[in-house]
Amino acid sequence: MRRGLLVASQSQWLRERAPRYGFMRRTVTRFMPGEETSDALAAAARLAENRIATVLTHLGENIADRGEADGVAQHYLDLNERIRVANLPAEISVKLTQLGLDLDAKFCFAHVAQLAERTPPEKTLWIDMEQSPYVDATLDLYQRARERCRNVGVCVQAYLYRTVQDVERLIAMGASVRLVKGAYNEPAELAFPKKKDVDDNYFQLAKLLLGAEARRAGVRAAIATHDRALIQRICDFAASEGARNEQVEFQMLYGIQRAEQIRLAQHGYRMGVLISYGSYWFPWFMRRLAERPANMLFLARNFFGN
Ligand SMILES: Cc1cc2nc3c(=O)[nH]c(=O)nc-3n(C[C@H](O)[C@H](O)[C@H](O)COP(=O)(O)OP(=O)(O)OC[C@H]3O[C@@H](n4cnc5c(N)ncnc54)[C@H](O)[C@@H]3O)c2cc1C
Repeated sequence: MRRGLLVASQSQWLRERAPRYGFMRRTVTRFMPGEETSDALAAAARLAENRIATVLTHLGENIADRGEADGVAQHYLDLNERIRVANLPAEISVKLTQLGLDLDAKFCFAHVAQLAERTPPEKTLWIDMEQSPYVDATLDLYQRARERCRNVGVCVQAYLYRTVQDVERLIAMGASVRLVKGAYNEPAELAFPKKKDVDDNYFQLAKLLLGAEARRAGVRAAIATHDRALIQRICDFAASEGARNEQVEFQMLYGIQRAEQIRLAQHGYRMGVLISYGSYWFPWFMRRLAERPANMLFLARNFFGN
């Protein structure tokens, strides 16, 4: 079912039709506070009351013309300003294919550099990681952006065999790194096919990112998972390394494991929630369904009107 949903996420035919159905729209509200920027900012303010920071992302990927990428970059520049005016503990995360990576890497870099320069120094501009063909281009662009501006961070995926080498390089740079399991459909030549191997690799990578060498290098590690067993192992490891709770950062997605988000924040861990918003939600929503097939039950319930 996971594979089927991930294949569906790339269907243009479905993307154009599915959002017209009320039951789809109702199910999506479980994972996003609304389509408008104001919905995302209001949700960020509510989370801030529980000492939970946010990372905001405007949904979209693989845009096809420069004007569209310019519009996305302008949207994020305006968002930066709205975050500043509202004084919210919020950062921004971008997808490079939404900023024109498929069209021209230099053009995409110019947008990222401009956004990073406008990001306050105490905050990070995050770069999402997309499918495996984009990994090299994303890490190259990240490295160049970081040479120009230190406050950029990048996501890496534990399901890829290569990630351990990427993490070692990022640690040597003292980078900001968000560690995830990985959300796309990848072949067994590139990614661990078994979930248990992904989980084990995640733990090994988290240990590297929270270990003594990474701390010496000034790495900011955002442990982005909803896996409570893994979170507990990582908390235990960090404590055994002498890290205080406020030095360990977790990130989760809006609407998932809400009680755990509050619990971690109350225990003094740094907690961030990624809020997605915008009208281009179909592929992103399919990936959320694929992560937990039980979510199909919510979809079915909304379809039958309960
Ligand atoms: C902040 C953040 C940023 C991310 N950025 C990227 C990115 O840039 N690139 C990328 O490839 N992936 C990204 N992801 C997605 C990630 O790769 C995983 O697909 C996703 O987090 C699910 O994996 P998990 O670590 O939560 O563990 P899993 O083992 O999949 O899930 C553990 C438990 O969490 C709960 N859970 C997980 N997912 C869901 C869901 N969708 N709905 C309801 N419950 C759920 C379930 O209880 C499940 O048993 C991001 C995730 C987060 C939290």
